[in-house]
Amino acid sequence: MKRLKLLCLILSLLLVVSGGFSQVPKPEDVLGFKIGTDRKVADMSQIIDYFHKLDNASDRVLVKDVGKTTEGNPFIVAIITSERNHKNLDKYREYQQLLADPRKISEEDAQKKIAEGKSVVMINCSIHASEIGAAQMSMKLAYDLATDSDPTTQRILDNVILLLVPMHNPDGIQMVVDWYKTNLGTKYEGGRMPWLYHKYVGHDNNRDWYMFTQVESRLTLKVHNAWHPQVIVDMHQMGSNGARLFVPPYVDPYEPNVDPILRQQVAMMGTFIATELTAQGKGGVAHSIGYDAWTPARAYHHYHGGIRILTEAASVKFATPITVKPEELQPGMTEASVKMPLPWMGGKWTLGDIVDYDYVAAKAALTNAAGLRKNWLQNFYQVHKNAVDSEKTIYAFLIPDKQRDLSTTLKMMEVLMLGGVEIHRAVNPFSADGRQYPAGTFIIFMAQPYGGFAKTLLEVQTYPEIRETPGGPLKTPYDVVAHTLPLLMDVDVDMVVKPFNAEAKLMTDLEKPKGSIERTGMPIGFVWGHATNDDVVALNRLMRNGHTIFWNGEPFDDLGKSYPVGSMVVLQKEGLDADLESIVQDLHVHFEALKTKPAVKAFRLKPVRLGLYKSWTASMDEGWTRWVLEQFEFPYISVFDKDLRAGELEKNIDVLLLPDFRSSKDIVEGLSDKDVPQEYAGGIGEVGVKNIKEFVRKGGTLITLNSSAQFGIEHLHLGVQDSVAGKDRIDFFIPGSILKVLNNSDHPISYGFGRDTAIFFRRSPVFVVKEGISVARYPAHPFLSGWINGKDLLVDKSAIVDVPYEKGRVILFGFPVLYRGQSHGTFRYLFNAIYYGASQFGKF
Ligand SMILES: [Zn+2]
Repeated sequence: MKRLKLLCLILSLLLVVSGGFSQVPKPEDVLGFKIGTDRKVADMSQIIDYFHKLDNASDRVLVKDVGKTTEGNPFIVAIITSERNHKNLDKYREYQQLLADPRKISEEDAQKKIAEGKSVVMINCSIHASEIGAAQMSMKLAYDLATDSDPTTQRILDNVILLLVPMHNPDGIQMVVDWYKTNLGTKYEGGRMPWLYHKYVGHDNNRDWYMFTQVESRLTLKVHNAWHPQVIVDMHQMGSNGARLFVPPYVDPYEPNVDPILRQQVAMMGTFIATELTAQGKGGVAHSIGYDAWTPARAYHHYHGGIRILTEAASVKFATPITVKPEELQPGMTEASVKMPLPWMGGKWTLGDIVDYDYVAAKAALTNAAGLRKNWLQNFYQVHKNAVDSEKTIYAFLIPDKQRDLSTTLKMMEVLMLGGVEIHRAVNPFSADGRQYPAGTFIIFMAQPYGGFAKTLLEVQTYPEIRETPGGPLKTPYDVVAHTLPLLMDVDVDMVVKPFNAEAKLMTDLEKPKGSIERTGMPIGFVWGHATNDDVVALNRLMRNGHTIFWNGEPFDDLGKSYPVGSMVVLQKEGLDADLESIVQDLHVHFEALKTKPAVKAFRLKPVRLGLYKSWTASMDEGWTRWVLEQFEFPYISVFDKDLRAGELEKNIDVLLLPDFRSSKDIVEGLSDKDVPQEYAGGIGEVGVKNIKEFVRKGGTLITLNSSAQFGIEHLHLGVQDSVAGKDRIDFFIPGSILKVLNNSDHPISYGFGRDTAIFFRRSPVFVVKEGISVARYPAHPFLSGWINGKDLLVDKSAIVDVPYEKGRVILFGFPVLYRGQSHGTFRYLFNAIYYGASQFGKF
């Protein structure tokens, strides 16, 4: 490979001498069509292949394999800059690292680096795979930068290091292109794909920028954290009937921890891009509409010294052109305004148009970053100087190492460390804000480069009251409004305002302490807790190995110790010792020998036979559910429409889990055969409804998540009512907030939980229970983080209900219990419900 590169270098030098880079392959020469041609798209393999060819032919382009995607495909980044800069990449990367941490350099040195350094721009294409335009455009942009020699290009190459991610979701690109090609020329051409374009999270893959649950998020972090780009362009597509391209400024509100310098730079870069497009006669470019900058889930960069420039081009039917009549455009779109001085008047709109708009936008961002190189570096340095400045309203966050769930606490700290946050650990006891803390306490000082990122995720959010009209409803936020990780993950964290002294050392990694086994004499078995997620993983492993396990339904004493309700007991058996030994290696679980069988009632657990409903509507919540189940080692099978239509579900499963569907119509009717081929159309149908009822009647358990409760209430005629169904936003509005519920601790679903729990609430039902048991209910003051309007409608109503239904039961969760893989503090509700659903009370 190296030798080949050397050969290419010599060849290209020869060609430079002879007057050009004629051997650099044009995209059309490799792909067989011009980029942006109607109905022609390159798939993942073709794009990767093209970039490697470019790398081989050009010394301006270096393609790096960052790692493997979820499905094992290569995730690549192309580093594009001048030949000269390529020889000094390490030096420039070091400059970025130093300017990003002003504690490490003198002012004089910083000014030297600012004078010599390069702007770093990252362009991320098509994270949403069906928004295919940018990924196609990336090849044209790379080719032009590799071959053009006009002054603008030369200036870009000399002053900017471009990190071009041609596909942010390579797996998805392959899927959507395959689907498009399969249906080309049929009535389904350009139509929706009936599964997610990311194995687990689909469209939510850009809601993962602080939790980093997915492989692709972590790969992007690798590139980002090595280079600390000043500018990140994140290229998307939106609906067809609005603006042709959205660029920032965003609309209010900004999340309060984003440095004001960055907010101004976002506005400056956005309007520069809009100006360049307008100057080229490209109409319909709008800014300051729709998209806000509140959630960090889409904007990692805003906490890491970079600006996130979201672009949203109007979509076509994938690669098939459309015609938009003027009257089909959204109101106001054909009138010039401050936000859009040059309207687009309707007409034909093609993939080529998207490619052109994206191309001009990308070029404009590079031009700006090149022309204002020094300003970008100086301001980047200033943002980080502001961050490390010791004058802060909050001095530190403290995380005690005695936690209910240490394993989850470590996961939360891992998230912060992935985001570049420095975590210290106290060597000696100390006091802060008048409280004593022992040695071992974790300390996060706010005066550090990414202190703002930590603060954003650790503090409570107060979403600002921006109303549509005075006294009118709250303006709908673009996304959810709460992201307080200590609440979502149920971790104790203290905020300290006043400076304090503590001897502490910087953590380089987080070591998870092993579990333990306490042995005595000849035990009849072992008992362990129910309060951590690791406790449940241990249960799953022991079940898998065929052990006999109980949950005690009442407290009991043994060997002088008291065990709370819900403690888990595994009976002695050949091989148990080895299994426990293996579990405590990587799980923080504590097993204690049990001398006598507890004389209390208990649940004997059955092995899990779980069916997860997988609809052709491509539910993201189904994907997230699959992901969480796999992470915590739950066996499951996917249950499709055809399985539910066929019936006799009890042959394969004991528990049927319906992920979150906005409406039960989506489950029953599914997609129309106007939109997808027959085999994916029709939902579970009335026969499916009948079969689910039959399954529950015979002893099965149906579990519904969040809005899917509607299915249970409506179709199984449960004596439960959703008291906020159909409520107006002016009366009731909780746009993705964290609330408190009180647990009914005698119920097996809340085994291992304390008195109250923080839950995530989003478009959720609120139950009035006439028939069944309330497992968790809202207190008089349920609000914890985000925004709440209409709290009185919650008080004393239920959030989890267990409704007996002949021999079986229906368990309704009135909130997203696994919310985007983040709400670790509530995962166990579902885990408990899965086991409880299939088990019966009995004796040890
Ligand atoms: Zn998108």
